[in-house]
Amino acid sequence: MLGTAERALGVHRVVEPAGVLPQAASRLDADPEIGPDEVRIAVERLNLDAASFRQLSEAHGGDGAAVRAAVLGIVESRGKMQNPVTGSGGMLIGVVDAVGPASPLGLAVGDRVATLVSLTLTPLRITDGLARWDGRSEQVPTEGTAILFARSIAAVLPGDLPDAVALAVLDVCGAPAATTRVVERTGARTVVVLGAAGKSGCLSLAAARAAGARELTGLVRNEAEAEALRAAGLADRVVVADATDPLAVASAVGTPADVTVVCVDVTGAEHGAILATADGGTVVFFSMATSFPAAALGAEGMAADVTMLVGNGYTPGHAELALELYRSTSGVRALIDPRVH
Ligand code: NAP
Repeated sequence: MLGTAERALGVHRVVEPAGVLPQAASRLDADPEIGPDEVRIAVERLNLDAASFRQLSEAHGGDGAAVRAAVLGIVESRGKMQNPVTGSGGMLIGVVDAVGPASPLGLAVGDRVATLVSLTLTPLRITDGLARWDGRSEQVPTEGTAILFARSIAAVLPGDLPDAVALAVLDVCGAPAATTRVVERTGARTVVVLGAAGKSGCLSLAAARAAGARELTGLVRNEAEAEALRAAGLADRVVVADATDPLAVASAVGTPADVTVVCVDVTGAEHGAILATADGGTVVFFSMATSFPAAALGAEGMAADVTMLVGNGYTPGHAELALELYRSTSGVRALIDPRVH
């Protein structure tokens, strides 16, 4: 019999293998019937994690119907949306439609919420066959049910922003929070963001500025993104390079920075990020496509004395911070809105 603490983590929903937490499980029980400490959400829309969507899209040659079938297959077989290749998930929005009497989350039936825990550990059942999704974007309109545990977190959706925007911003809200924390704690002056014109990238630049950093460099992969980032006015310097080409990154960045934030959605950015960072500096690997061995052995191989942080998706206050940066920074809106609409 599981205790309250184990149930709060969702261990009772793990089907296999036994003894792991839901995030590491290969399969969860997504039964919509809730326990006393659970909350059920009537799902309206999923936001697939960027690294996961890119991998699926590339694996199926951009064929939307095949991507849709793949996502459906994953959710049906795993009871959750966790891409088996990238290991990553995303998050969802929906309406609370049942609350167990012992749930501590403070949610009420009818609340429109975004889950701030990953889809990789959220029991999920899809009931419309993803019929309204063309398989060509990260945002997936759908119907079904999702379950929140006692330790899951969720944010009531802000009334002033379109759902798609709120979902996109909340999905990456860990990035600006991590950037703020590192810049404030280290007193960093110079910051480089790889993938700076993307959603987490532009929010991280805005967060770095607000936290007191003074020289911000945004690295993007082509001239079109460079133009958009310059127009957004979030960076003091915009450079163009392939983040997966370490020497090109080092040459484009020039003098290494106090802090580098990795916000690309592709594999292979570890070495460039390390070269872009000064000795004694910090790299925040927010990208889900980061490899621990590539980062750890790469830094060792370059005798680089850098602190490397895994971008934790959770920091207290992260959702409010990201939404506020979106509302208050026109350059962030200019970069995020076209990606969402
Ligand atoms: P996004 O909006 O798609 O931004 C990614 C950016 O990286 C895009 O501008 C993309 O350019 C750029 N890029 C891709 N390949 C590049 C390359 N080789 N060189 C330079 N730039 C390149 O993605 P996002 O939603 O911000 O997510 C970014 C990463 O954060 C993903 O890996 C995602 O999985 C991860 N994530 C982490 C957490 C966490 O808790 N740690 C939570 C959510 C998401 P194009 O648009 O031209 O491709």
